[in-house]
Amino acid sequence: MRIGNWISRLFHRRAVEPAPRTPTAPAPTGPARPPVDTFEPSAPMKLSLGKVTGYSGTEQQKLAQATTLMVAVLNSREFRDEVLGARFQGQPGFADEARSPREIYAAIRAAKENYTDAADGEVDLNVSLEDFSWFQRHTVGYTTPESDTLTTNRRFFGSFTPAEVAGHLSHEWLHKLGFEHDFAATADRPYSVPYAVGELIERLAKGPLTPLS
Ligand SMILES: [Zn+2]
Repeated sequence: MRIGNWISRLFHRRAVEPAPRTPTAPAPTGPARPPVDTFEPSAPMKLSLGKVTGYSGTEQQKLAQATTLMVAVLNSREFRDEVLGARFQGQPGFADEARSPREIYAAIRAAKENYTDAADGEVDLNVSLEDFSWFQRHTVGYTTPESDTLTTNRRFFGSFTPAEVAGHLSHEWLHKLGFEHDFAATADRPYSVPYAVGELIERLAKGPLTPLS
């Protein structure tokens, strides 16, 4: 792993330390609950795979495990609470992002990729698995603003757990929703939406999840 990545991961671990949990409130009984607790999406998010290129049968099984984890995290109370509670430089929110955690959470739920027409609450993924060149050997994967596809380096995919694949795909998918981060491994980058939320999804994918409804 490159030093840059390593440092960024260290920073990031600090960024996504879970906030102390407040005890779960009883079921809603009226309008008196704090606004953050009343934010309940109307329907569970879905995930649909479109073009799947370069994946063998075995690799498709891991991909399926990863996407199942990804959508389970997106529909969990743990994910909602951590995104809504995210802080950067002492303020609610993320790096490189003017919107509030609430607005960011709503944008994630809306799932309006830049290559789809509808804010349909559905994660629409086109994925490609490739053998990257020696020059790209440290790159896990990428997408470009013009592309509707998330491309993954087989070298990493092979050793990744399904949770790590879920985190990686989430990072790239968040770019398709318009979230950006510094290109260089700056101190702020781990707090950007793609890094912070991507790593959050990876971490939550490893543990028990409570469905939103
Ligand atoms: Zn990125």
